[in-house]
Parts: sequence; structure tokens; C-alpha cells
Amino acid sequence: MAHVPEQLDQYVCENCKIVHAGTSTATSGGSEPPDSCGACGKDVFVQASEWANRYE
Ligand SMILES: [Zn+2]
Repeated sequence: MAHVPEQLDQYVCENCKIVHAGTSTATSGGSEPPDSCGACGKDVFVQASEWANRYE
């Protein structure tokens, strides 16, 4: 399997709008949102790219 540069997505907490770095997944080579927001404890994340589109 080829080595690809690790690129972690960023996720925005919908509740408090804080940006979190995604955690890497060994299975897909991608990233996923954190289990919960470190600030508010919720788990409602939107990918940063999606978030940007939303407020275009
Ligand atoms: Zn939050």
C-alpha cells in the first residue's frame, strides 16, 4: 500500500463553534471527528469544509 501524507480533517462543533482536529483512522486512512467536544461535551461535528460551504 502506498504511503499517503497524513491529512487530518478539521471538524467544527455545531454547538460552540470550536474547531477540532480530526483523529486519524487506521482502517480507512482518513479521519473522523473526536468522540466529543472538549469544550461543551457534545458530539455534533461538521467537517470544516462543509461548514465553510454553509456560510458561503
Ligand atoms: Zn462544543
